[in-house]
Amino acid sequence: MLPPGARLLGWAAGGCTFGVGQKGNNMDCIFCKIAKGEIPAIKVLDEELVLAFMDINPSSRGHLLVIPKRHAENIFEISEGDLSAVTSAVRRCATAAKEALKAEGITVLQLNGKASDQLVPHLHVHIMPRWENDGLTVSNWEMKPGDMDELKDIADKVKEQLPPS
Ligand code: AMP
Ligand code: ZN
Repeated sequence: MLPPGARLLGWAAGGCTFGVGQKGNNMDCIFCKIAKGEIPAIKVLDEELVLAFMDINPSSRGHLLVIPKRHAENIFEISEGDLSAVTSAVRRCATAAKEALKAEGITVLQLNGKASDQLVPHLHVHIMPRWENDGLTVSNWEMKPGDMDELKDIADKVKEQLPPS
C-alpha cells in the first residue's frame, strides 16, 4: 500500500544509477528503457526524436508524457533540436488529447530538479487534460501580491544572466 500522495514509479526502489550507453541513452534510466522498447509503455506517438505515452499514475483522465528519445535530464541539458521536437510533439498531443477527450483545458507541466519535485531524471512534459472543477491541485497555487522592489531586483538579476538574443 502506497502512502497518500506517493506515486508508483516504474523503477526499483533504491533509485537509479546512470551509466552512459550508446546513442545518448543512459542504461539504467527508466524512460531511456521505454524509448528503446526495453520496457513496455502505452504509446500514443512514436517519432525519430520523441515518444509520447500514457502516465502510469494518471493525475487526470488522459494524462500523458512526452519525452525526447535521447537522454537529457532536464531543460538545462537538452539540445535545442530535441527540445524543438518535444515542443512540437507536446502541442500536437495536447491538441489530440483535448479533441479525443473533449477536455475543457490542458495543463502542460515540466519539472526540473528534485527541488521542483522531478522524480524521473529524464526530461518529460506532462500533458494533463482538464475539466472545470476537476479538483486537480497542480495549478492553483496561492496568489499573494509580490513586493514590487523585490520583483524589480530579481528581474534585473535574471536579465544580467540572459545571453544576448
Ligand atoms: P515527475 O518526474 O515528478 O515529473 O513525474 C514522473 C512521472 O513519470 C510520474 O507522473 C510517474 O507516474 C510517471 N512514470 C514513472 N514511471 C513510468 C512508467 N514506467 N510509465 C509511465 N509513466 C511513468
Ligand atoms: Zn533517460
